[in-house]
Amino acid sequence: MNVIFLGPPGAGKGTHAQLLMNELGIPQISTGDMLRQAMKAGTEMGLSAKRYIEAGELVPDEVVIGIVKDRLAADDCKNGYILDGFPRTVKQAEALDQFAQIDVALNIALADEVIISRLSGRRVCLKCGATYHTSTMQGEKCLNCGDPLVQRRDDAPETVKNRLAVYAVQTAPLIDYYAGKGLLKTVNCEPEATVQENYARVRETLGLK
Ligand code: AMP
Repeated sequence: MNVIFLGPPGAGKGTHAQLLMNELGIPQISTGDMLRQAMKAGTEMGLSAKRYIEAGELVPDEVVIGIVKDRLAADDCKNGYILDGFPRTVKQAEALDQFAQIDVALNIALADEVIISRLSGRRVCLKCGATYHTSTMQGEKCLNCGDPLVQRRDDAPETVKNRLAVYAVQTAPLIDYYAGKGLLKTVNCEPEATVQENYARVRETLGLK
């Protein structure tokens, strides 16, 4: 299955994509994680992406299209993949159509006020990308790899506002784009539900047995 996870920042794309990756054994391809890794490694691409990411703006289309195209050509994508955070503009979606065959675009819907509280309490492991929330995490270290958990700089309140505005203008049109192709499915995740309960909804929406 080649699946796209759509939805605003903080809707749970990364969390559900990781669970689905573990269940189906297909890779989760997160452009945000790839860009953060490039920033950490200090590559040219990472350095040029940094100012966009830290301002809550989108990195130019050509850059992300290039990294996704290369990534999807890898062997581990032959049996399917989960795109998490790509495409984020109609131009990216049109480019993706040229080199990939998407089966489903899953839109994870969640109210704006819930998103803001989620992002402000989000903590991440910069090594493996695992995400936690201050309200439920046990300790300050990643349970997978023991690295310290940190707040992403772009989860700061002012940047979050900008990311939501960018989402509304540049990314939300993808809902209509994929609906028009008959590929859109929407799951309403409940803020009060546990991750496992919301993941059960994701699975059901994707038609997994
Ligand atoms: P994420 O981890 O998916 O929330 O992405 C973090 C940041 O990386 C975004 O706010 C953008 O600055 C950048 N980014 C990630 N994916 C894309 C994309 N598909 N297009 C442009 N910028 C992206």
